[in-house]
Amino acid sequence: MLHSLKSFLAVREDDSELNRARYRALNRQIPLMYGIILINMFMVAGTHLSTAPVVLTMVIPAIVLFFSIVRTSIHLRNRNKPLSDDYITHSLRKTVLQTPVLALVLSGWGLAFYQYGNAEQHAQVVFFIGVTTFVCAFCLMHLRQSAMMLLFVVAAVTCIFLVSSRQFVLMAIALNMAVITLVFATLILRSERDFAHMVVQEKRQKKQHIRLKSLNDENKRLANTDSLTGLANRRQFLAEIDRCVLQHERDSSEFVVALLDLDGFKPVNDVFGHPAGDQVLIQTADRLTGLFDAQQVTVARLGGDEFGLLIRTPGADEDVMAMANAACQKLRETYRFEEGSANLSATAGMARFPAAANTRSLLFDRADYALYFAKQNSKSEPVFFSHEHERLIFANSALEQALRHADLEKEMSVEFQPVLDLERGHTKGLEALARWYSPTLGRIRPDLFIKAAENIGMIGRLTEVLFRKAVAEARHWPGELTLSFNLSATSLTSTGPIMRLLSIADQAGLPMNRLIFEITESAVMNDFDSSMEVLNHIRSSGAHVAIDDFGTGFSSLAYVHRLPIDILKVDRSFIRDLTLNSRSANVLRSILSLCENLEIGCIVEGVETQEQFDLVCDLGGQLIQGYYYSKPLSAGDTHMVLQIEAETRLSPPGSQAAG
Ligand code: C2E
Ligand code: CA
Ligand code: CA
Repeated sequence: MLHSLKSFLAVREDDSELNRARYRALNRQIPLMYGIILINMFMVAGTHLSTAPVVLTMVIPAIVLFFSIVRTSIHLRNRNKPLSDDYITHSLRKTVLQTPVLALVLSGWGLAFYQYGNAEQHAQVVFFIGVTTFVCAFCLMHLRQSAMMLLFVVAAVTCIFLVSSRQFVLMAIALNMAVITLVFATLILRSERDFAHMVVQEKRQKKQHIRLKSLNDENKRLANTDSLTGLANRRQFLAEIDRCVLQHERDSSEFVVALLDLDGFKPVNDVFGHPAGDQVLIQTADRLTGLFDAQQVTVARLGGDEFGLLIRTPGADEDVMAMANAACQKLRETYRFEEGSANLSATAGMARFPAAANTRSLLFDRADYALYFAKQNSKSEPVFFSHEHERLIFANSALEQALRHADLEKEMSVEFQPVLDLERGHTKGLEALARWYSPTLGRIRPDLFIKAAENIGMIGRLTEVLFRKAVAEARHWPGELTLSFNLSATSLTSTGPIMRLLSIADQAGLPMNRLIFEITESAVMNDFDSSMEVLNHIRSSGAHVAIDDFGTGFSSLAYVHRLPIDILKVDRSFIRDLTLNSRSANVLRSILSLCENLEIGCIVEGVETQEQFDLVCDLGGQLIQGYYYSKPLSAGDTHMVLQIEAETRLSPPGSQAAG
């Protein structure tokens, strides 16, 4: 019994959360409680001033007032202070211990007045004790130990006093008080239980919230870093650029975005496998982070083998160039991994904010353009986005815009350039060359608009228009003259485009064996497997395949025999140098003999002068294309020239040589 009473009254220190909540609630209510006690005491003291002794009316209330001020000021002072669990437990225990004293003072002081005054004053005293006790118990409600102690001590003292008077009315009051005390105690215990439950619930929610928050933080971290290298990822990189843009708005600070792309990464992946590729990427990340101060330069992996640098205090262009050069230099060092080692290089493109662009996406695009430019033009040399690039982009975008809105049927046409068959002394076939006359931009070079059409995804439609026009002419040509048609790299990525072209020729009634499709080496190397499929498809239909611009791209004589081809077209750069150095002549000789061995045709392109023509003849060239024999001709001129040639079969157009 005593034990359970003790444990009921104990303030347990392991309930720290509950204790804190109790303390907070008491902090709010205790000043109120003292206020009520004092008001009530002064009322009683006031009505007894003339009848009761000074100790009761003045001294004790003054002591209580002093004590109240001290306690209240302690509570007020601690209101917003961070307090330790120990302090709170200690303070609650102190309150519990002080409660019986308060209860005794309340009941003892009140009842002491009973021997003075009249019946009304007695009623006032009983009223004082009852009301003050219940209000105080209510204020102490959240600390049930104190509330119970106050209720029962006051009730016990008062009831004993009243019952011992043996007056019927006072005994009735005592009974009344006892019942109300019990009911009130029950209510307080219930509400305290609810309070404790609520605190536990709140604690659980808080814990859950913390867990969710840390989960959220972890997700955020994962979403912003590259899992392989631990660097910032593209999302984070873009967000940091955004922050730099905002910073610029505040203090006009400049920054530079540099994009780095590894050259030779794909072969490492292909030859040594993905784990080796991963090692290369991790080492690249380490090398780059080791090179720069993280405060000054953010290194990010933007995807694949592309990395980004955000240079916050870039200095002059030369300084940035030096940084980019240092990065590229570092990436040229040999990579070693379990499966072997590899030498790679890197290309960098850079753009400065706000000189190159004044928005994040434009800046990124321009750095990307500079990178593209670096790859195209000066491999492994960093390139800064410049005004020249801006002009190029402007011209390109004007061209793309005009092409998008072009009436292809009306604006596109084809010219034909004859190929001379030396042995027979007349035209063997003709190459169709695309021509575009734009009403807004005028005449545009075919290599430019073909590239633009590839960029904007129009090449398929454009090729079909051009091919239809070429075939419509070729079917009127006499005899077995062939039509050569250039295919762009994108036509080699699947068999769809070529099948449509073959069906166009079929519908026009042009025999397949009179068709030659010209493709470049680099287009074949771009996607070797699907190119082979397309080439085989062409040949199985009866049409022929020519490798165009041979010698400019991959230029490996070794693989030529593996390609399903009928003709090799030697690039005109060889012929240009033919009269200048003997090396070119040797190369041409070996290409010619290779073709002879493989039993494929060889067209020598770009023959412009008598001298070149003679040399090619001496080296054994059979098929010749170039301004010397004929420039590209309009469809009408072609028709006329071929007509004359068929009639005379003597002298090919514009030529003194074959005549
Ligand atoms: P290509 O296939 O190598 O075409 C030959 C280019 O060399 C033509 O330029 C032609 O006019 C030019 N040429 C011919 N003989 C000589 C010569 O003796 N000296 C010099 N300096 N040049 C000569 P063009 O018509 O400007 O075509 C340029 C390139 O555009 C073509 O090079 C080809 O790659 C591409 N192209 C032209 N038409 C088409 C087409 O219909 N489809 C595709 N995909 N590409 C085309
Ligand atoms: Ca060609
Ligand atoms: Ca060519």
